Amino acid sequence: MNSSFSFKIDAICASTGARAGTLVTPHGEIKTPVFMPVGTQATVKAMSPDEMIAIGSQIVLCNTYHLYLKDRSDVIAEAGGLHSFMNWPRPILTDSGGFQVFSLAKLGHVTDEGVFCRSHIDGSPHTMSPEWAMDVQDKLGGDIAMCFDQCVSLPCSHEGARKAVERTTLWARRSKEAHTKSSQALFGIVQGATFEDLRLRSARELIELDFPGYGIGGLSVGESHDDMYKMLDALRAVMPPEKPRYLMGVGYPPNIVEGVSRGVDMFDCVLPTRNGRTGTLFTSFGRVNIKAKKYERDFTPLDPECDCYLCRNFTRAYLRHLYHAGEILAARLCSWHNLRFTIHLAERAREAIIDGSFPVFVRRFYETFID
Ligand SMILES: [Zn+2]
Repeated sequence: MNSSFSFKIDAICASTGARAGTLVTPHGEIKTPVFMPVGTQATVKAMSPDEMIAIGSQIVLCNTYHLYLKDRSDVIAEAGGLHSFMNWPRPILTDSGGFQVFSLAKLGHVTDEGVFCRSHIDGSPHTMSPEWAMDVQDKLGGDIAMCFDQCVSLPCSHEGARKAVERTTLWARRSKEAHTKSSQALFGIVQGATFEDLRLRSARELIELDFPGYGIGGLSVGESHDDMYKMLDALRAVMPPEKPRYLMGVGYPPNIVEGVSRGVDMFDCVLPTRNGRTGTLFTSFGRVNIKAKKYERDFTPLDPECDCYLCRNFTRAYLRHLYHAGEILAARLCSWHNLRFTIHLAERAREAIIDGSFPVFVRRFYETFID
């Protein structure tokens, strides 16, 4: 492991095992639990870097698959990497591209060597492999990179999930061998769909490879919340306590609260920005569709408990008006609020873990948040 990366636990909730920690990267510290906004195309949609700092974003995630297509990763490397290209001074995590290769690209054949596929944009042919993923993430220059993994879509047979776990371990080994950037930490990714035995096997095999952190992939892809929590319950018993745990693609507020309760440190999701653009907002009392008629003359703030720019300065009626008028500001303000709400949720969980009141925080969250 490189010396510019470290993780330490600041506090643990005695009754749940929820953790507050500090991750040190070459671009600064990250206080966990943390929610990481997604900047697919080297930008968090509708938000400038200044605004991202104003809402307390400690780190952003960028997508390797999108930034590789059309030679963009070469342009980014020429610019000196993602930090200077997008003018983001804080840490960046790049995913492995695996999830997009298996969900977005037109799949050809998948072998132990890698994945042959065609771009979802222009149909151009590509071969993605662990070596490919390490090469592109090296060019992008994030602080944390992810191993190339095989994602399965649900429902999936035990046999299919087992093959993906075996391949993910094989590819993790090759990712580690191909990863040479000393200023970048490489995380392994635990797969295994919703099969407890496979999740444990995947974790065991990856832990042997001794990565500085571990992603938990292949969840939040259509399984029930209970199945997701069951996998997290099984994994927390075997994950090394001194290393960060990252639940990939999860950002729905109750999932964050439950994940933190099960010892997860890091989360990412497109939900806050994607839902924000369509007028669905997360608030301390649950989900709000701001386009609804009932908000036409509602001159109160969206969420009186939220400290964001939208909630402190505008009314529900104005926001609803912006949506129906097709104004760009509607998408901007709603992305702003949803991101701040989700980041703030992780911040509040951290404060509660540190001051010993995390179980009270969880109870209060459920008293007001209507699913
Ligand atoms: Zn707000």
